[in-house]
Amino acid sequence: MTAEELEFFPAASQGGPDYGERIRAVFEKHLVKQGLNLTKQRLRILDFLIAAKRHLELDEIYLALRKHGIGRATVFRSLKLLEECGLVDHVTTTKGASRFEIKLERPHHDHLICVECGNIQEVRWPQLEKIQEETCRKLGFAPTWHRHEIFGRCRRCAKA
Ligand SMILES: [Zn+2]
Ligand SMILES: [Zn+2]
Repeated sequence: MTAEELEFFPAASQGGPDYGERIRAVFEKHLVKQGLNLTKQRLRILDFLIAAKRHLELDEIYLALRKHGIGRATVFRSLKLLEECGLVDHVTTTKGASRFEIKLERPHHDHLICVECGNIQEVRWPQLEKIQEETCRKLGFAPTWHRHEIFGRCRRCAKA
């Protein structure tokens, strides 16, 4: 079975000038619906996630941005808002922590999570996806989303 693996899949359009704008527009629309604004702080948190090349924990975001006067509670609430509007998703580590990633325009992928070092690797299984779709269709089940998480030891930790 062919599997594509990468630590973190970039958005196909990432780096393009409109990518950030499209993400910001989705976020702003959601905020306005909640009677909130796209403040400088919320924008900074979003931009930090867009620039990230791995899954980030709340505290990593907070520690990187607190010099701009952004509190932990603001990061927490912003992540919640970003998940509500489908821009961000999270993976749960073996230690129970959530690691966040941008979802928009990134390919569907699943995760291999190392129980030793906590490294999270992204994988794509096109054939597995096809099997799932076929099974759902046969059963008349309309899938909304799914998540596969495989726990084990990464290449580095398995060697040690
Ligand atoms: Zn590891
Ligand atoms: Zn991911």
